Amino acid sequence: RAKKNLTDNYEYFAPEIEEKTTWRLNMIRRLRADFADRKLELWFQPQVDLVSEKVVGMEGLLRWPDGDGKYISPAVFVPLAEYSGLIVDIGQWVLEASCARIRELCDAGFSHLRVAVNISIPQFRDRTFVKKVKSAIEKNGVDPTSLELEITESVVMDEPQIVIDALRALKEYGVQIAIDDFGTGFSSMSYLQQLPLDRLKVDRSFVSDIQPGGNAFIAETIVTLGNKLGLATIAEGVEKREQASYMLKLGCDEAQGYLYARPMPFDELMVFLREKD
Ligand code: C2E
Ligand code: MG
Ligand code: MG
Ligand code: MG
Repeated sequence: RAKKNLTDNYEYFAPEIEEKTTWRLNMIRRLRADFADRKLELWFQPQVDLVSEKVVGMEGLLRWPDGDGKYISPAVFVPLAEYSGLIVDIGQWVLEASCARIRELCDAGFSHLRVAVNISIPQFRDRTFVKKVKSAIEKNGVDPTSLELEITESVVMDEPQIVIDALRALKEYGVQIAIDDFGTGFSSMSYLQQLPLDRLKVDRSFVSDIQPGGNAFIAETIVTLGNKLGLATIAEGVEKREQASYMLKLGCDEAQGYLYARPMPFDELMVFLREKD
């Protein structure tokens, strides 16, 4: 009888689990191969000052071409890269590519722009992380203050001490620090105070709540918190003019979103910057 149940369970559950596991392992194998073949791309999305609407920086975002002219979303493959540990090497490539782009921006006369890079928890667990960030900066001879690291609340809560220590060392070196998707995770206010932060990124979900009948008070609360902590604030995912003007009214400093520009390859970004200049 017990045996029969086991068989039933097997038939009922296993194919699904196996399929999912096979799919994941396949994706990880393809990702590892494509990364080794230098097929990953780093695109950039401009960030603007809400008052002047001038570009003040950009966020680097990974793109994985699938060969059909389309791209696999980082929301799909970054978790797989984290799970497999690949994100340590991919993340280092992102840091080095970003610093190389900062160099190019400076050479083209855009030395005032900062470039933000998303950092995952396995990168912090790598004990050589701080050294690796500094080496990417030094190798390209760029100003450390031009580089910003974005971390989510879950990164902080996963390994508070490791993350606080690493960020303090990097902040002292000059690097800027932002909390990404702020308000969607569970972070302790006491850790927030211990982190050497420069900027809070108001999550897109709270910005999209800014519409008739929506709950704009969460965006408002985050901007107020940022102001009280002495931090700059940036609204993510601004798509509508009304959202931009509302965030400006709240005292939010900057914005990023489709209203201004979508993420684009670096060459297109250069054209975009020259047109706006
Ligand atoms: P994120 O860091 O919160 O990045 C912002 C995401 O919002 C990007 O999605 C961007 O394309 C999207 N976005 C920006 N403006 C708008 C808008 O107005 N409307 C809408 N609907 N979306 C907007 P993307 O590029 O698909 O990246 C998804 C996530 O993947 C990122 O979220 C980040 O968590 C992760 N990711 C991307 N690149 C990297 C990377 O180099 N390293 C790591 N660790 N994670 C990365
Ligand atoms: Mg980000
Ligand atoms: Mg974000
Ligand atoms: Mg996000």
